[in-house]
Amino acid sequence: METLYITHPLCKMHEMGSGHPECPERLDAISDQLLASGLINYLQSTQAQAPATLQALKRVHLGDYLDRLSAQSPIEGYREIDADTSMNRHSLQAAGFAAGAVIQAVDAVMAGHSQTAFCAVRPPGHHATQSRALGFCFYNNIAVAAAHALAAHNLKRVAIIDFDVHHGNGTEAIFAGDERVLMCSFFQHPLFPGSGVDDPAANMVNIPVPAYTTGEAIRALVREKWLPRLQAHAPEMVFISAGFDAHREEDMAQLNLVESDFAWLTEQIVAVADRHAQGRVISSLEGGYNLSALARSVVAHVRALAKL
Ligand SMILES: [Zn+2]
Repeated sequence: METLYITHPLCKMHEMGSGHPECPERLDAISDQLLASGLINYLQSTQAQAPATLQALKRVHLGDYLDRLSAQSPIEGYREIDADTSMNRHSLQAAGFAAGAVIQAVDAVMAGHSQTAFCAVRPPGHHATQSRALGFCFYNNIAVAAAHALAAHNLKRVAIIDFDVHHGNGTEAIFAGDERVLMCSFFQHPLFPGSGVDDPAANMVNIPVPAYTTGEAIRALVREKWLPRLQAHAPEMVFISAGFDAHREEDMAQLNLVESDFAWLTEQIVAVADRHAQGRVISSLEGGYNLSALARSVVAHVRALAKL
């Protein structure tokens, strides 16, 4: 079965001002490289059909927060949410379709249309908490989708893998203590947002690593700390917060991963899903700001998802 590839034109309409690294060109770089590599021919490409519903968003976000965000949406120009995060008139809709795309991926995979999916969406999501937009994120796309899988498809156990170079503080805040969800991540520390190191909940497998950690060291840590926990949890669906800013060419952080490391990580995740989750893996774009490294890494990731 072909891997599902979901995006939406509105995801390129959200932008936060010239020179901002979380820019629409990220999605162009990805689609260009999927085309140039020929990989696109082996994927089932589609557009997100609908934004996430209020019901779906409210599984992980507070109603007050969602109301506040709507009220802040500007008619023109930019509305600053924090020092790095702002909204234009398309941002809220883009965020809705980004979360909607990941929900759609869950539904399609549960219906057996595909085993795996990659959502090329923005704004990203993993820094957004129940009640706060942060670090370029508004709705926590992967958390909304995981909560949807638990509530709408009656799954009992899911796993969330976050290999973005930044700690997924929002996803952790949403699921800490929820034993249905096992979250595994590594992240550079110290680095924004600085969380994830102080006594995380038992369902959080956090691996803070120092700057300049190599891909080889990451692989050893993943084998030692993630894989036994994932096998024991036996998730029925595996989610990936797929950030590619741990790449060695990335200026925003200082880890030393390359394309083959992202491919290896993805292969490990797919193997866990094949064993426990009928192969079901839902991946959604988070960070990755060096356009060339991002696009090459996504190709490596999607190729491994699709077993090509
Ligand atoms: Zn990141």
